[in-house]
Amino acid sequence: MSGADTSDVDVSGVDVSGVDVSGVDLLVHGGTVLTVDAAGTVVPDGAVAVRDGEILAVGPATDLRARYTAAEEIDARGCLVLPGLVNTHTHLAMTLLRGRADDVTLQGFLERVIRWESRLLSEDNVAAAVRAAVAESVRAGVTTALDMYWFHEAAERVAREAGWRLLTGPTFMDVPGPADGIAYADRLEWARRDLAGRPVLPGVRPVLFAHSAYTLSPGQLTDIAALAREFGALLHIHAAENASEVATVEERYGKRPVELLNALGLLGPDLLLAHTVELTDAEIAALARTGTSVAHCPVSNLKLGCGIAPVPRLLDAGVTVGLGTDGAVSSNTLDVLGAVRQAALIHKAAGDPTAVGAEQAVRMATIEGARALGLGDELGSLEAGKRADLVVLDLAAPHLRPLHDPWSTLAYAAHSSDVRDTVVDGRVLLRDRVLGPWDEAEVLAGLEALATAPEVPSV
Ligand SMILES: [Zn+2]
Repeated sequence: MSGADTSDVDVSGVDVSGVDVSGVDLLVHGGTVLTVDAAGTVVPDGAVAVRDGEILAVGPATDLRARYTAAEEIDARGCLVLPGLVNTHTHLAMTLLRGRADDVTLQGFLERVIRWESRLLSEDNVAAAVRAAVAESVRAGVTTALDMYWFHEAAERVAREAGWRLLTGPTFMDVPGPADGIAYADRLEWARRDLAGRPVLPGVRPVLFAHSAYTLSPGQLTDIAALAREFGALLHIHAAENASEVATVEERYGKRPVELLNALGLLGPDLLLAHTVELTDAEIAALARTGTSVAHCPVSNLKLGCGIAPVPRLLDAGVTVGLGTDGAVSSNTLDVLGAVRQAALIHKAAGDPTAVGAEQAVRMATIEGARALGLGDELGSLEAGKRADLVVLDLAAPHLRPLHDPWSTLAYAAHSSDVRDTVVDGRVLLRDRVLGPWDEAEVLAGLEALATAPEVPSV
């Protein structure tokens, strides 16, 4: 493990020797705290103090318990405490279609999904599907997600209802009969109104989604990017997901997807690309030079036979790489810890067991994911001043013992079902494996009712 034993150090810099005892909202104490700070600090028998949704201090449990009285406590003895996981690419409402498009090509997958979406999608149905997705994510220790989908307002309402951190916004995809009924010609104005009316919230930023260079023209992409820049929004695009997409874009415009985005002047620190499986050295250099980030979705890429993204080369070049699950139709779960394990394994398949180590993979799911979203100063690590998004992972199970190295345990041994408690913005959304925001049985019944509705075709 790269972290030093800091049992006598207050990581937050708070002076814990004073006698003043002050009140905090939440104190998580007694676990091994993996801060995921720059030094990789691990605090055995540590604690995290939270006030007003923000981390006030991280340090040894004895010191923080002496300093703070807490309105609410989580006893994390025998557990690992880590930053909440960040899902940098997903389509939450696709939980509705889980298991409906397996073992087909990306193009076959898209055809089926678009057919179902045209029959099924409505604000209410998206809300029901997102509710189930949030329940699944909270159980899996995921505290933040970037969600591209139709009816984003419904997803946003559901996330607010739960107190869960969701980054979403208007999606652009120039297809006939868009599921939300908003014609392409009206979408820029609709998106402008959305961005203009958006409240500023800690740990969240405005987002625009341009589906891809094969569903939008270069002119459309440029207009969407200009709108994103006007509002300081993150722009998110699927790019270079497989060889067939690259061939399609190259045939239409004479340039590969990332090459095209570069030629249009769209690359930059406010752009996050999903997948990037097919990249040339020149494209990797362009991503690094412009500060463009990548959402690596190893499970989706494997399942759809798209290939393996050149993550070791991206990391060597200095590109920020986060992890995504993609939607539950293409990867079947919203399990970010599962993506961590895949990310730590698949790049070794080329013969180099040092490619993407355990620590690197865990960082991709936490601090690097937060950076990919442009929120690295607020999310992704347990440090004073950041939003209080954290996970308590129960180490009681045999497959997690002994704890020699928390990075290794998380990347190679832990399952999302080992998550016991999940905290977002200081609110405990999962406690002792019980979901706080909703009656989980009701949420799942809502999803089941939709999934078996007569309008859903069987194939
Ligand atoms: Zn996707």
